[in-house]
Amino acid sequence: APAAPVKTKFGDLSDEDRIFTNLYGERDVYIEGALKRGDWYRTKDLLSKGVDWILGEMKASGLRGRGGAGFPSGLKWSFMPKVSDGRPSYLVVNADESEPGTCKDREIMRHDPHKLVEGCLVAGFAMRAKAAYIYIRGEFYNEALVLEKAVAEAYAKGFLGKNACGSGYDFDVYIHRGAGAYICGEETALIESLEGKQGKPRLKPPFPANVGLYGCPTTVTNVETVAVSPTILRRGSSWFASFGRKNNAGTKLFAISGHVNRPCVVEEEMSIPLRELIEKHAGGVRGGWDNLLAVIPGGSSVPLLPRKVCDDVLMDFDALRDVRSGLGTAAVMVMDKSTDVVKAIARLSKFYKHESCGQCTPCREGTGWLMNLMDRMVAGNAEMEEIDMLEEVSRQIEGHTICALGDAAAWPVQGLIRHFRPEMEARIRQYKTSQQATLSAKH
Ligand code: SF4
Repeated sequence: APAAPVKTKFGDLSDEDRIFTNLYGERDVYIEGALKRGDWYRTKDLLSKGVDWILGEMKASGLRGRGGAGFPSGLKWSFMPKVSDGRPSYLVVNADESEPGTCKDREIMRHDPHKLVEGCLVAGFAMRAKAAYIYIRGEFYNEALVLEKAVAEAYAKGFLGKNACGSGYDFDVYIHRGAGAYICGEETALIESLEGKQGKPRLKPPFPANVGLYGCPTTVTNVETVAVSPTILRRGSSWFASFGRKNNAGTKLFAISGHVNRPCVVEEEMSIPLRELIEKHAGGVRGGWDNLLAVIPGGSSVPLLPRKVCDDVLMDFDALRDVRSGLGTAAVMVMDKSTDVVKAIARLSKFYKHESCGQCTPCREGTGWLMNLMDRMVAGNAEMEEIDMLEEVSRQIEGHTICALGDAAAWPVQGLIRHFRPEMEARIRQYKTSQQATLSAKH
């Protein structure tokens, strides 16, 4: 039986304090259910308080981007021009959720689409944007249908379009389906793709807030970040800031998968201990906590953590950075002791090699090297020095590329070497021993 959850000051979120209640409730997805849950409630009043009030509340709430980077959201939104130079501004919602292990935005679009659509209006207004484009992952076919229906409902009610919600502000929302490239989740690749070009990241600067979609000021923001904004404004920044720790405020969706008894997506308080999150919501590790080998705490782009670190670590940006990992997309991938951890990371290396867009050399060539070296590590058919070579290749990629995919390919490998080097060495020794035994048998 799973051990009793550890009780802490974090992680006691009640249903009243959850934002995405329809993930657990009646699952009445469309407008009637959404209105019942308080979506679109006096949205006009929120807008009538003005851009500065909205930006101030978002900053005071402490919300940090939920797509992985964790940049302060209110600050990011305030980078948009205050006075138009004749070009329109755009909000682009990054719904291209493709990070391995991550399925939280999918749940929002599936069960609470109106929170996202209303969030588009509120966030778009704060950016003085003319329209929002929701760029949804191509594989999310059903979610795209749900969103399209929710957007049509919002137009029919007068919540979007001309004089949205009676605010005097005109605002449109468009849905655009991607075509299955992981790299299109990178903000400038997403913009390129939206413009009909190949999804290849742009060099920055210029930053999208200056030159983004169609050469116009643009902010690209994650689904969850946008979808929580109306609730933050209604309930107040201090309510949202009261959860979690300083610099790590609010509630958060966590996707828990792998070797747990009940994989799930759950909204919890930031800074909840990793162990409590797994035991309270996912039924614990398969075979009990002592059967845990490692956890990747934030999607495939962050380094894994061995069991001893998992015992006490908190699930927030700063705590996970302090243990040389990251909150990333808050996708918690649990591996029990039956896992071949070298093989698991090798699989990720293959993924990044496949998804590299190929326009910068360290990533294009380096991800191939990582994949080949990791394949040798899996077989054990390598020299001991190649572990250092693997580390060196990852260092040559990290920080030397146009976009973060290079870092994302390097970090899981670095985490493996940091925490599981003895296992890698044992594998190489074992291979050599078996080779010698075969040779001796032949002679
Ligand atoms: Fe493309 Fe990789 Fe360079 Fe990103 S880091 S731009 S994916 S080659």
